[in-house]
Amino acid sequence: MINASTKFIALIGDPIEHSMTPVIQNEALEALGLNVRNIAFRVRREEFKEAVYGAKALGILGLMVTIPHKETAAKIADELDWLASLTGSANLLHFCNDKIKGYNTDGYGASQSLKNAGVDVVGKKVAIIGAGGAGRCLCFQMLLDGADCVHVFNRTYEKALQLAEEVKRKLPHANVYAHRLGVEELRDVLSNVDILINATSVGMHPNEDDTPVPKVCLHRHLVVFDIVYNPLETRLLREASEVGAMTINGVDMLVYTNVKAVEICVGVQPSFELMKQRCLQELRKRALH
Ligand code: NAP
Repeated sequence: MINASTKFIALIGDPIEHSMTPVIQNEALEALGLNVRNIAFRVRREEFKEAVYGAKALGILGLMVTIPHKETAAKIADELDWLASLTGSANLLHFCNDKIKGYNTDGYGASQSLKNAGVDVVGKKVAIIGAGGAGRCLCFQMLLDGADCVHVFNRTYEKALQLAEEVKRKLPHANVYAHRLGVEELRDVLSNVDILINATSVGMHPNEDDTPVPKVCLHRHLVVFDIVYNPLETRLLREASEVGAMTINGVDMLVYTNVKAVEICVGVQPSFELMKQRCLQELRKRALH
């Protein structure tokens, strides 16, 4: 029960109504027996700064930050962790000793998700579809995790090119290549790739018939990781299974991202399994409506 001593972690973004974060985090916080809860607020772009300083003044422990505030969050922080600093994007602001510490826990979520599935990134050739917020983050993370190279495909080719150039500037020894999102180029590059990651919104509910990579480009030696988590099995994952590839959906990444955020804000590691079960239950419930 919420009482006068309850502390809060807040989620801010716009839109916010679809977010799984409050449901998943509250399950974990309750199970830990902590008088801490997660609460979501829709905050418009122009009111972000006031919201952050207001939250700090209210004694809120930390802010999970989502679209469209991740870049502004990195700018407002006094200190950044390495991924937030490399990407210029933070999804968690932790109020600590009068300072605002910015973190990017998406990379951790993706790394842990691959590890959980038994996939070792070291020395692997990786292809990432998407050069938006998640694509940028995963590109840096995979290279820092020891990938041999990363191929970035994006609908807007210039964004893939800009990302590749930025990565090379910040990580001079990294092998990173930009590509156009076309069937010929996909088929050619993917024939020599170990891990394919979809970091676009293509295939996400309600556009479940869409896929970012045509089936003819897939093969059984690929690990296909789709960070979309609604639906649980996207068309990309279904077609990857049909050709015999190993598949990973976006649920573990989402849950690990929240595990890390709770750990940073309250100093105790919550149960991944419990949060995952609650997440799956909520996703199934929403699929029925
Ligand atoms: P974003 O910054 O808006 O980027 C969207 C990306 O999708 C861009 O690369 C965009 O290409 C591409 N895209 C959109 N529509 C497309 C289409 N019809 N055809 C081809 N490419 C298209 O979004 P984001 O924050 O990176 O998120 C991307 C997805 O990842 C979302 O579905 C989000 O829910 C999911 N996600 C999941 C997790 C998790 O924990 N599992 C975490 C973060 C994000 P252009 O540059 O050409 O527009």
